[in-house]
Amino acid sequence: MSLSKLKKGDMVMVLAGKDKGKSGKILSVIPEKNRITIEKVNIIKKHKRPDQKTKGGIVEKEAFIHISNAGLLCNKCNKAVRIQSKKLDDGKKIRICSKCKEVI
Ligand SMILES: [Zn+2]
Repeated sequence: MSLSKLKKGDMVMVLAGKDKGKSGKILSVIPEKNRITIEKVNIIKKHKRPDQKTKGGIVEKEAFIHISNAGLLCNKCNKAVRIQSKKLDDGKKIRICSKCKEVI
């Protein structure tokens, strides 16, 4: 799957690693590095020093995963699926599930 097909806000499923099988929304994308963060996936704990605004302590945060470890989720199939892109008559491009042909 090419990166251009995944964007912020898409629902994806994790395909590899410790969070395999989890799904969530893409929070951010770094196209140059092929990396994304997904809501509640690959959580890391960071020790934060107190500063003037916050008390510090341990904060949990989503770490980046490689884009090839996630697949776009089809709500109908309820799993990560291959995506096809389809050009509509008006020239607009849409993404559809290659299995059930549902628009994603
Ligand atoms: Zn589907």
